[in-house]
Amino acid sequence: MRALTVTPGTKDSLRLDPDFPEPAEREGGLLVEAVAVGVCGTDREIIAADYGEAPPGEDRLVIGHESLGRVVEDPTGRLKWGDLVAGIVRHPDPVPCPNCAAGQWDMCRNGQYTEHGIKGLDGFARDRWRIEPEHAVKLDQSLGLLGVLLEPTSVVAKAWELIDRFVERDPWEPENVLVTGAGPIGLLAALLGQERGLDVHVLDLATDGPKPQLTHDLGATYHSKPVHELGFAPDLVLECTGAAPVVFGVMDAVGPCGIVCLTGVSSGGHQIPIDAGALNRALVLENNVVFGSVNANARHWKAGAEALSSADRTWLDRLITRRVSVEDYAQAYAVQEGDIKVVVEFT
Ligand code: BGC
Repeated sequence: MRALTVTPGTKDSLRLDPDFPEPAEREGGLLVEAVAVGVCGTDREIIAADYGEAPPGEDRLVIGHESLGRVVEDPTGRLKWGDLVAGIVRHPDPVPCPNCAAGQWDMCRNGQYTEHGIKGLDGFARDRWRIEPEHAVKLDQSLGLLGVLLEPTSVVAKAWELIDRFVERDPWEPENVLVTGAGPIGLLAALLGQERGLDVHVLDLATDGPKPQLTHDLGATYHSKPVHELGFAPDLVLECTGAAPVVFGVMDAVGPCGIVCLTGVSSGGHQIPIDAGALNRALVLENNVVFGSVNANARHWKAGAEALSSADRTWLDRLITRRVSVEDYAQAYAVQEGDIKVVVEFT
């Protein structure tokens, strides 16, 4: 069968292997036929050899952690043939740490977790894959290809759940949220903010392309200006760029008792001048919360599946700006202007 593989640590080693072995039974009882995988920045970092780890004893790693597939067989009988599913990315560490032991592998404390298509476990960019049935999340069948958006949606569902916990600390109810970055994570974060009834603002550099209109059609306000020129102090911020000036800009801009959730994984190496004392003073005097959030556990995958199911399909469909056949995989992983989410199709 076909599989998209890389040699972690070797730059630009992505290739389509035409005769990759069928998934082994030990990978899980549930057999799935791939429909598509989504492409994200992490995939590009793995291809650039900045990230990624092959399974133990292997040289190559099957990439793809944003999955969508159809069930072929489920030994537990919970899922039936043809059901649309996505595979949960992270698996608990073997120790396990207290968080992984309680099913909160997204909060793993010892770093020994594994992730499909990223760290120590083959991914989903192959014609067929296997997973433990409890690690597969069933999607609303009517979503079709849009189900491939579940993984990034699970990541923002977790971010929102954590924000909710901090919001509970005082009687004040936030009214607005600033989302920085109108990529897939940012726009999905904005969607969930809108579903919560907040006044949603999205900030991004782009002045043309699909981002301003997608934001507008969600009922949110689009800003294409530096954070300090926003003109208001946001109650909540979901930072989805990982760009240092934006990250520090939102910490400064957030209002009293405001909460900043950081989701962007920065590449590092970019230095910017910061008045650390003034920033610390502002955060302390305003009771601000700044926290990082990565990955998602089963609860967040379920919340993500529900959020997608109740979202407007035409709007979701516009997030997928390119669909590329697996045979043309190189085009999918090369960034093109106007891209939001690019998907690689297997069927
Ligand atoms: C994935 C997460 C993963 C993280 C770090 C992200 O692209 O969406 O599931 O935990 O990369 O590997």
